[in-house]
Amino acid sequence: MTRAFPSLVVDDYDPSTFAWDDERTERNRGITKTQWLSLFERSTAEFERRAREDEGSDGVRASAFASSFATVIAIAREDAREDEVRKAVRGAAHGAYDAPWRGVNCLEMCRARDGALRARGFYDCFSKVKREENRAALTKLRDVLASIDLAEDANGERLMSVIRGCFAGNIFDLGAAASAALFGEGGCDFASTKEKGIKARPWCVDDFDALKARWLCGAPHKKAIMFVDNSGADIVLGMIPLARELLRRGTHVVIAANSVPSINDITAIELEEQIIPALVDLGDVILSPAIADGRLRVVASGSDMPVIDLRYLSDEIVDEAQDADLVILEGMGRGIETNLYAKFSIDSLKIAMVKHQEVATLLGGELYDCVVKFDCAPER
Ligand code: MG
Repeated sequence: MTRAFPSLVVDDYDPSTFAWDDERTERNRGITKTQWLSLFERSTAEFERRAREDEGSDGVRASAFASSFATVIAIAREDAREDEVRKAVRGAAHGAYDAPWRGVNCLEMCRARDGALRARGFYDCFSKVKREENRAALTKLRDVLASIDLAEDANGERLMSVIRGCFAGNIFDLGAAASAALFGEGGCDFASTKEKGIKARPWCVDDFDALKARWLCGAPHKKAIMFVDNSGADIVLGMIPLARELLRRGTHVVIAANSVPSINDITAIELEEQIIPALVDLGDVILSPAIADGRLRVVASGSDMPVIDLRYLSDEIVDEAQDADLVILEGMGRGIETNLYAKFSIDSLKIAMVKHQEVATLLGGELYDCVVKFDCAPER
């Protein structure tokens, strides 16, 4: 059973942000469907490599995944009849909910790729690297929190420090080819990325001033639902400090993480087993009591993908969100490629690094540009 996010404005909601077609249009700025499919094609080798290295893999199943997904891409690219494309893409997507078909797009291709992996028995082939990255990031958390605590509250400097931390965390992403090559597996340091590696403002989507005004002048939010992205530095050094900052203001925080593994995204179970106990052990004066009394908690979102359609969520997260007054969608998949223009009846924040050149072009920015999209709840 899946339900829609309660404060989502569902009229006209289309989770996909960008148009996927081969005609040059205003909405695709010349990034055609063929280019999008090439992006998926280029990233397949990394997925095949992870599958090959997966425990118990014999290599044959990894090749079978790669060739079956290549077939899906080829059919989608051929401009075959729409019903043939739908059959190929949806046919690869095991367990897909019954969402209406709107043509091939980012969400459908992510679902097909995960489906093709699962069909060959690859349920969680980033499991080992996720665990290692969580562990490594946790050793740096105390220093990251200490550096945030040095920043001034009143002028927004502290909020900026936390937001820059979200960007620095989100850049470390084994699920995005460019980031994996640059920053993957210990290639670069979080602190220096936060200090020197974030593009100067204005960012390609830059509502930071509006966020700051709401943060400094408005009443604290009662409850935030935070849809999170990757394991490792992203969740531990980017999003946990943001959650802590909200808690410090008196906001309850519910972290919504995938129910089912997809790429290197953190799952709700991994948060419960690998992250939350370590936060308790840290003994932080804000995080520890909040975990103990439930002001900070984790809920499975119902999602099994790196992108998210907010009409198909778990009962648990929908129940939690009934009294939320802030929703945060973090990461390129959940906050840019899907949902960037999603409207809510509560305050919403979409925050992410741009890690594909195609997305940068679509937003009129550069690779490793930043997105802070903040919208206040419409006046009632
Ligand atoms: Mg991700």
